[in-house]
Amino acid sequence: MNEVVIVGGGLAGASAASALRAEGFDGVVTLVGSESHPPYERPPLSKSYLRGESDRPEAYVTPEEWWARHGVEVRTGVRVRRIDRVGRSVELADGTSRRFDWLILAPGSRARTLRVPGGDLEGVRTLRTFEDADEIRARARDAEHVLVVGGGWIGSEVTASLRQLDVPVTLAVSAHRPLERALGERLAGLYDRLHRDHGAALLPRTRIVALEGDGRVRAARTVAGDRIPADLVVVAIGAAPLVDLAQDAGLTVSDGVVVDGLLRTDDRTVLAAGDIARVPYPDLRRSLRVEHWGAARAQGEHAARTVVGARQPYAELPYFYSDQYETGMEFWGDPLRPGEVVVRGDPESLAFDMFWQEDGRVRAALNMHVHHHHDHAAPDDHHDHAGGHLDPAVVARLLRSPGVDVGALGDPDVPLDAVVPGDR
Ligand SMILES: Cc1cc2nc3c(=O)[nH]c(=O)nc-3n(C[C@H](O)[C@H](O)[C@H](O)COP(=O)(O)OP(=O)(O)OC[C@H]3O[C@@H](n4cnc5c(N)ncnc54)[C@H](O)[C@@H]3O)c2cc1C
Repeated sequence: MNEVVIVGGGLAGASAASALRAEGFDGVVTLVGSESHPPYERPPLSKSYLRGESDRPEAYVTPEEWWARHGVEVRTGVRVRRIDRVGRSVELADGTSRRFDWLILAPGSRARTLRVPGGDLEGVRTLRTFEDADEIRARARDAEHVLVVGGGWIGSEVTASLRQLDVPVTLAVSAHRPLERALGERLAGLYDRLHRDHGAALLPRTRIVALEGDGRVRAARTVAGDRIPADLVVVAIGAAPLVDLAQDAGLTVSDGVVVDGLLRTDDRTVLAAGDIARVPYPDLRRSLRVEHWGAARAQGEHAARTVVGARQPYAELPYFYSDQYETGMEFWGDPLRPGEVVVRGDPESLAFDMFWQEDGRVRAALNMHVHHHHDHAAPDDHHDHAGGHLDPAVVARLLRSPGVDVGALGDPDVPLDAVVPGDR
């Protein structure tokens, strides 16, 4: 019989399991996850769940009863500690082992911690799990000063959510503005203003060199010598892919577990998906590790298709989204955003599109919009917001077409599908 073991109970692992059943795979599927919850999605942790507006089950990848109903054994609360490639088995931390014909590695990432004196004081948290979000919400409720360290996606979203709860927040960023590295100066300026308009204090070009307190954190010290009072510090300085298992098993690791278009490592029956996988993106003509929700889901599903014998290489475009305050943002394409910026609409209105084009080829597309109803825990609902959205299918065609009319691209009066050559 065919036995599949999935390491990691996050979105990539869970998507692989559900796609295996959707593809008609009737062998043994075992999913091993070190957290004590059924597989869940993380985006709500910095948004609705952090604000207390949604509960845990809303973040579950599938309803809890799905697993038993579809004959998938979910082993929660236990890690896989070793892969035996010769014996075709994995060893779990409880001393048991599982044999496999196919192994799907999807252990995700861990949050980077602040390695400074006082970095382990009480009240210093990273955000990756339900428990982290619960702790941050509980402490923020009566915090006098919250300091968020890191102006990436999570730092920016946590700042927004805490401000929405009316918690006093200071956001310290190492760049000039939040999201500058992810989105460039112009959009970073917009997010900077959004935070300030909502009452967040921003500290640009700030590096924290120590945290101070008496067991519990009371303040942060910057490299410039400034003291920032803080009784809760949320450290959001990026994530590190959990590649140790793969590395110890002798698989090729180079900024992630290196896989081919079928998500196979150099061991053909060991696949990798999600945050840990460095995947070839044909549209970008290079391999990339994409630490986002869309990649975890699509790669998990793709790994399942490889197991059942499909031989179509992975061909998704990188995609990510973010919700902050009243705004939603979606991005498709090359995260390096090569080329010249073309804006469609008025950025001041917070409802516009932005494209990056090189010689009539659109390399990346971004849409920003204002939510017309409350943002939801389930990212599947993401396209339901009324108005101002881009159609992902049109965007995909646009990004894959040469000879795009740049004038029409920047003209909001020309419908976007009319800009796609061949679609006219
Ligand atoms: C707070 C937060 C907000 C986010 N918001 C967005 C967003 O708005 N938009 C977006 O596009 N992306 C967002 N992301 C990113 C997105 O959630 C990740 O890219 C996605 O979770 C990756 O899925 P994964 O399955 O690869 O890994 P994970 O979700 O990390 O899941 C891996 C699981 O495997 C477990 N595990 C690890 N090692 C082992 C082992 N040895 N044995 C067994 N189990 C193991 C882990 O404990 C974990 O439960 C956010 C992430 C966070 C943390």
